Amino acid sequence: MIKLHEAFEIVLQRTSRLEAERVPLLQARGRVLAEDAASDMNMPPFPRSSVDGYALIAEDLQRLPARLQVVGTIAAGTYPEFAIASGQAAKIMTGAPVPAGADAVQMIERSRSTSTANEVEILEAASKGANISPFGSEARLGQVVAPVGSFVSPAMVGLLAAVGKREVVVYRAPAVGVIATGDELVEISEQPVAAQIRNSNSYALFAQIESAGARPHVLGIARDQKSQLRELMQRGLQYDLLLLTGGVSMGDLDLVEDVFAELGFKIFFNKVAVKPGKPVVFARAGNTLVFGLPGNPVSAATIFELLVRPAIRKMLGNVVYQNQIVNAHLTQRFVNRSGRENYAPAWTWYENGAYHVRALPSKGSGDVVSYAASNSYLICPIDRTELAAEEQVHAMLRPEFF
Ligand code: AMP
Ligand code: MG
Repeated sequence: MIKLHEAFEIVLQRTSRLEAERVPLLQARGRVLAEDAASDMNMPPFPRSSVDGYALIAEDLQRLPARLQVVGTIAAGTYPEFAIASGQAAKIMTGAPVPAGADAVQMIERSRSTSTANEVEILEAASKGANISPFGSEARLGQVVAPVGSFVSPAMVGLLAAVGKREVVVYRAPAVGVIATGDELVEISEQPVAAQIRNSNSYALFAQIESAGARPHVLGIARDQKSQLRELMQRGLQYDLLLLTGGVSMGDLDLVEDVFAELGFKIFFNKVAVKPGKPVVFARAGNTLVFGLPGNPVSAATIFELLVRPAIRKMLGNVVYQNQIVNAHLTQRFVNRSGRENYAPAWTWYENGAYHVRALPSKGSGDVVSYAASNSYLICPIDRTELAAEEQVHAMLRPEFF
C-alpha cells in the first residue's frame, strides 16, 4: 500500500498534456492557451478619458475656481477634430478620445456651470495626465498579452475578445469514459427493489468530470462478470481517461483488477493509504489512463478529487495541478482510527480573518447525504489518531465552492 502523495506523483508522472486544437473563443473557457496571443492593436488606441468631465490643460487650474471656455463635446465613439488651447476645455464622456492640446480630464463632479453659455468653472486642480489612459499604455500592437500556458478564465475570454481573437489555440480537453460495475445497480429511473441500489456514481462522476473541464462519456453498467467488464473496458479505451467504479476491493466478485491484468493493462498501484478509498487501481492501456475507483460513492468521489482531477488539470495543460489546501482552525475534535491519511467531508468557512473547519457527521463512505452537504475535506495526517478542537489543521477546499 502506497501513501497518497506517492500515488499523486505516480499519476502525474504518467499523465501528459494533450495536443493543441483551434476552438471558437467561447469554447475556450477553462482551457489553457497553446499559443501566445498578441494584441492586434494599441490599447487604448487613443488617449482615453476614464471619467465623465472636462478635458483641459492642467496648468490652467492654478487659480481656482478656473473659468474655462467650453469649445466642444466629445462622446465615446466620436473623434475630436479640434484642439484645446489655454483657457479652453471640452466636455468629454467616459471612453472618449482626449482632444489634442488637453493634458488632463477633471471629473464633472468637480465643476459647476456658470450663467454664461459655453463656460464652465472647474473647482479643483488636476495633475497632468489625470483621468487619461495614454495611447498604448495597456498593450502595444503586436505585444503578447496572454502567453502560451495562460489559463482561459472569463477575464481572459474578455481580453482575447478585445484583441479580436474569434478563435484560439488551446490544449484539447480530455475525453473521459465512465463505467459503473455491480450486479446490484439499477438505472436512476428505476425504483430499486430488494438488494438493488441506483447507479449514482456515473452521475456524480459525470458532473465532476465536467466541472474539471473534461468531457464525460457514460458507457453504462457492467455486471460483475468478466465478459461484460472486458467488453465495456475495451470500448472505454477510445478515451483519454477511463474511470470505473466498484469491483476493486477484496470481495469474490471484485473482478476489475483481474480483468485489467487479463487485458494486458499495466498496473501502477492498487491500494492507497487514504480514507475514504483505500482500493484504487491505476493502470495504463495504450494511450488511455485507467482508474479503478472504489464503489462506495463518497470514496469514488474523493479519489476523483485527490487523483483524477489533478490528472485532468495536467492533461488540459495547467501548470498547477494540486488542490487548494488552507490552514484552518478546527472547531470540533476529530478521531481517525483508520491508520490512513483521512479526508473527512467537512464544512469550511472564512470568518474574522481565518478559515474554520469541522468534519460533518457521517455514517461512512456510503453516506452520500452527509457528503453532499460538504464543501471541503478536513485532512487528518496518517500518523494522527486524533485532532483536538482548537488545533490548526489543513482543509482541502473543493473548487466548486471556493
Ligand atoms: P464494491 O466496491 O463494488 O464492493 O462496492 C462498494 C459499495 O459501493 C457497495 O455498497 C456498492 O453497492 C456501492 N456502489 C458500487 N457501485 C456503485 C454505483 N455505481 N453507484 C452507487 N453505489 C455504488
Ligand atoms: Mg461491486
